[in-house]
Amino acid sequence: MKVMKFGGTSVGSVEGITSIKRIVESAPKPVIVVVSALSGITDQLYNVAAMAAAGDENYLAEYKAMLHRHVDMIPQVIDDTMIQAQTIDTIKELFTDLSNILRGVFLIRDSSPKITNTIVSYGEALSSVILSKALKGAEHADAREFIKTIHQFGKHVVDFDQTNHLIKERFAQLSNVTVCGGFIASETQTNFITNLGRGGSDHTASILAAALGADVLEIWTDVDGFMTADPRIISNTYVIEKLSFSEAMELCNFGAKVIYPPNIFPIFHKKIPVVIKKT
Ligand code: ADP
Ligand code: ASP
Ligand code: MG
Repeated sequence: MKVMKFGGTSVGSVEGITSIKRIVESAPKPVIVVVSALSGITDQLYNVAAMAAAGDENYLAEYKAMLHRHVDMIPQVIDDTMIQAQTIDTIKELFTDLSNILRGVFLIRDSSPKITNTIVSYGEALSSVILSKALKGAEHADAREFIKTIHQFGKHVVDFDQTNHLIKERFAQLSNVTVCGGFIASETQTNFITNLGRGGSDHTASILAAALGADVLEIWTDVDGFMTADPRIISNTYVIEKLSFSEAMELCNFGAKVIYPPNIFPIFHKKIPVVIKKT
């Protein structure tokens, strides 16, 4: 079994989703697909929450842009017209809930961390539903049901006892393809929605791979692998064929953000290899 994680850079466009379909459909099964929000959506959600809390009515235009971006993509990535219509309905329902929450934030001019966490969770809630419908025969899993956090020293940290137990229960029967949103979680005690911090989808994927003893964790992104430097900044970079966890850690201290080693700590413990691939 393998876990395949597709970052925001891979799900930002119709072409990206089409590539994901090709990659997942040709992979040996079973697979668990962990997906981030569409590129830029998490930033946009933090932004609309702040705008609504500040009483800025323009939050509505931002909200509508996000709604259209998701809905417009559906007919282009889902062939079956019935599934298209069902998916559009589901996505619109999620957006109606989001709009109600934002309206509340706008009226009371306040967005607590609890509300902001709920608002930003829509990014992965939406992308994972769309991808699960775009991939034929795929099942959808809601990460908020099994990735559990506790509040410690002002941060939401993974409650590994609960999380590992719930993952084993949820995935006792593995479908050929299961799609799950990364990043999003919920608190053990209260079930309030939380998250694993920015870039946290890698963490979700690693937690799942470790709990289920995956053969490999594949991180699909927009670069060919772990490189000697960020190719967006340095031109003559090249891919490092193989590196240890501690070597990856050192490069990350110098800004290599392709993966953040603490996020993949669970698989390091289980000696599960990570492969970085370009979507
Ligand atoms: P995703 O949305 O797939 O999670 P990220 O933006 O988090 O993607 O990570 C991929 C980006 O990491 C690349 O586009 C690249 O610019 C950047 N990056 C920084 N340092 C490195 C490095 N050493 N090797 C590869 N990519 C790097
Ligand atoms: N969508 C989240 C973020 O932008 C998580 C992730 O992409 O890994 O930080
Ligand atoms: Mg990332």
